[in-house]
Amino acid sequence: MKCRTCGTKAAVNMRQHKLALCKQHFLEWLPEQTARFIKKYRMFGQHEKVLVAVSGGKDSLSLWDILHRLGYQADGLYLGLGIDEGIGYSDQSRRLTEQFARQRGLTLHVVDIRSTYGYDIPTLSALTHRGHNRPCAVCGVVKRHEMNRIARDLGYDVLATGHNLDDEVSVLLGNTFSWQVELMARQAPVLPAHDGLARKVKPLCRFYEKEMTAYALLRGIEYIYEECPFSAGSTTIYYKEMLNRLENDRPGAKLAFYLKFLEARESGLFQPPAEFAQPMYNCPSCGQLTQYEGRCSFCRMMEKAQSHS
Ligand code: SF4
Ligand SMILES: [Zn+2]
Ligand SMILES: [Zn+2]
Repeated sequence: MKCRTCGTKAAVNMRQHKLALCKQHFLEWLPEQTARFIKKYRMFGQHEKVLVAVSGGKDSLSLWDILHRLGYQADGLYLGLGIDEGIGYSDQSRRLTEQFARQRGLTLHVVDIRSTYGYDIPTLSALTHRGHNRPCAVCGVVKRHEMNRIARDLGYDVLATGHNLDDEVSVLLGNTFSWQVELMARQAPVLPAHDGLARKVKPLCRFYEKEMTAYALLRGIEYIYEECPFSAGSTTIYYKEMLNRLENDRPGAKLAFYLKFLEARESGLFQPPAEFAQPMYNCPSCGQLTQYEGRCSFCRMMEKAQSHS
């Protein structure tokens, strides 16, 4: 297989795009495509301040690398979740993220959840009896709250996450199976800023997971290979495996499913009827937007943890 651009031996063969590229041209192609998607979906401009949520994994570190190379003002945010599970998951991911930032002279904000709030994620999950052995529900609430808080407090215009196509399509499939139309209406490459919440963007949403792995490896980015230990056995992973089987038989199926969904969404198919549009409130404790009148789920969760500790 030869590189389409220069004819030398290809390093990456993307059957879904009928495109093979050598290392050099792949490392040019992926940031060029990212720049194209940032413009196409109107994610952000050159003068806006971007906060990249970095976990130490291949996607978020590659996203930060790409935005930096494209000349955007992109700083990082690392959330220390306090997940150990015998492999020192959080310690290792923090070390690799700090090393990445230091080597490139980038600004990284670190929020350690335990030293900020008194509990790590597994403890918080146990104290609040949420999650049934899997702290992902608690972790999701904390991550969302903290990303929004830091973006707002430090004046960032945009919050960028490293979700790739496989992430997006597995969530979409789950939402489709249960016809969660309101969630589908909110699944997009860009969510506009809303009353104190920064705009949210997913610049990698059209890249396959294997393309992102190839980028991180060929670029020489040191990232944490292990997934979070709590992700084992999750529905997302199950859907990803299913989708990989489909993709194997029909290259391009994942991308087509996602792009057709975006077209349908754009045409208004998934907008919830106006009478279901929920009013939003500001949490009286932390000020963040919430669907419920009264304190937000993060503040209620913290209070519950305090009352049980
Ligand atoms: S898999 Fe790990 S990082 Fe992801 S939500 Fe669950 S606990 Fe948090
Ligand atoms: Zn080439
Ligand atoms: Zn709150």
